[in-house]
Amino acid sequence: MKVVIIGASFAGVSAALAIRKKYPTAKIYLIEKQQTIGYLPGGINLYFNEAIDPIEKAQFMSEQHLIDRDICLMLNSKVVSMDSKQHIIKYEKKKSEFLMSFDKLILATGSSQWSQKILGSDSEKVLKYKFLPGVFNAIERLKNSDKVALIGGGQIGGEAADTLLKKGKEVHLFERMDYLLFKYFDEEMIQPVQAEMVSRGVVFHFDETVEKVTDTKAGLLIETKKSQLLCDSAIFAMNVRPNLDYLDENIQTHTDHTVFVNEYLQTSQADIFAIGDCIQVPYSLSKESFYIPLVNNAVRTGLVVAQNLVEPTTPFTGSIRTIGTKLVDYYVASTGLTEAEGSFHEQSISVAHVQQKSSLSSGCEKICGKIIFEKESHKILGAQLVSKADILEKINTLALGVQMGQTLEEFYQKDFLYHPYYSNVIEITNQLGFEGLWSVANEN
Ligand code: FAD
Repeated sequence: MKVVIIGASFAGVSAALAIRKKYPTAKIYLIEKQQTIGYLPGGINLYFNEAIDPIEKAQFMSEQHLIDRDICLMLNSKVVSMDSKQHIIKYEKKKSEFLMSFDKLILATGSSQWSQKILGSDSEKVLKYKFLPGVFNAIERLKNSDKVALIGGGQIGGEAADTLLKKGKEVHLFERMDYLLFKYFDEEMIQPVQAEMVSRGVVFHFDETVEKVTDTKAGLLIETKKSQLLCDSAIFAMNVRPNLDYLDENIQTHTDHTVFVNEYLQTSQADIFAIGDCIQVPYSLSKESFYIPLVNNAVRTGLVVAQNLVEPTTPFTGSIRTIGTKLVDYYVASTGLTEAEGSFHEQSISVAHVQQKSSLSSGCEKICGKIIFEKESHKILGAQLVSKADILEKINTLALGVQMGQTLEEFYQKDFLYHPYYSNVIEITNQLGFEGLWSVANEN
């Protein structure tokens, strides 16, 4: 079997490795347009925070690892078109064009940062650093910038604000919603983080949508309906869009240009699959699919596609959008539905909050937790954690509870370890379940 995978990042690499395990004799070709693989998109923050140097060390995978597993890695090769019916792709390498046939094809060309809505956002001074070439440009420009505008207040914008503050820059963050990380947190949970950022100098421009960026003699001019700001550079910290210019008309797409796939990640052509940032994923808490470009979705779809390559056996279970990061001394993590999204959920929802001290080993810091659940069934839908102690791993436990459709009753009784130095007498994730039950009882 000849398997061709286009795109050698999280999705493509995880698919290649999983296919190699399942099909030891398959011929696997991994085609990548860049000259290196494995760059970690958030690597620029690690670099500026002096966690790595040089920047190339921000790498999750080496070329040798793939070569050792007999995966044929074709770098500097850009797929430009395809004939899905004839099972052929065309790629460019060193200005020449080549054809390649396949038995199975996997589209893993991911996404890039661009916007048609913001005029001028393609300027070199509007920094995009998902891939290494953009990162080199961003590092140089940020070193020489005193005043930086961030366009977008999601995880990328929040992390950039944190990094730039530490570097002593003047930071302005533009966000069309009225608080930071709104997709993942309810306002009261993220408020302390935001207040800390303000106290350290971040200027938030909430409820402001950037419409235009102009490179003027006086600097980079950022314009919204409400205000104008001159700065030295800007960071594009908004949604990414799929890279799919090479598709032919037989591959069905959604209106947002993601590839249409069934539950087995198969496109409208039986031998062609799509994974990672090329597709929408089913949201596990509703019957809808959404574009949720996250590494964990890329990796998991890569693993699942290997199972379905020859026979459709393993549906992709979907995503509940689990994230975590650290911003100005606060660890913040979220999974599943927020309370703000609750009005779109089929059933009525309830929430409960818990405040608890972290373990002795992590400094007895306050942990603020929130759980969101169905009022009637008590099914857990989401959770959020914010603390100066490192609580990031705890969100994975909550995510599993949500993904397994557990109720508060089941969840508060789950097993947990106790150690006098490393844990609490009651683990906060259990306590959240318990508090949820009491909040319902009190309401009744
Ligand atoms: P991509 O990583 O986009 O990779 C696609 C690959 O295909 C690339 O190597 C590209 O060069 C190649 N390619 C594209 N077109 C062609 C072609 N025509 N021919 C050949 N090769 C091609 N997610 C998280 O979960 N956690 C984070 O902390 C996080 N941080 C992020 C920080 C930034 C700044 C950005 C922009 C995104 C971040 N994300 C994060 C999102 C995450 O990067 C993506 O979800 C993830 O990279 C998707 O992986 P992928 O393999 O599907 O695609």
